[in-house]
Amino acid sequence: MATKTRAQLYERAHGCCEICGIWGANNAHHRRNRSQGRLDTLSNLMLLCGSGTTGCHGWVTEHPEESITEGWTIPRGDRRVPADVKVSRFDRVLGARRLVLLDDDGGIEEAA
Ligand SMILES: [Zn+2]
Repeated sequence: MATKTRAQLYERAHGCCEICGIWGANNAHHRRNRSQGRLDTLSNLMLLCGSGTTGCHGWVTEHPEESITEGWTIPRGDRRVPADVKVSRFDRVLGARRLVLLDDDGGIEEAA
C-alpha cells in the first residue's frame, strides 16, 4: 500500500478503529478482498484494531456474513464499487456507529 494512502487512512480515522472507536488502530482492512483484485483505495479500506485473528479485524475475518451486512466486507459477486456500498462506521463525535459512504479522497458522507 502506498505510504500516502496509509497516511490518508490514518487521517480519516484519527488513528481510531473505524468499527469500535478504540485509539491506536493500525490494521488496514480491505473491504473487498485482495483475492478479488486488490484495491488500495480509501473507499475500500478501513482502519481497524487488531490483526487477522484479534480485535475488530479478527472479528470481521471470523464473521463474514455479519461483516457483509455491516458493509465491512464486500462479497464476491457484488459488482458495486466500494464507494457505493454503505458501511457502518464508528463516528467519534456521535460516539456510535452510523451508516456512511466512503470516497477515495478520505471523505465520509452520511448514507441516506
Ligand atoms: Zn476495533
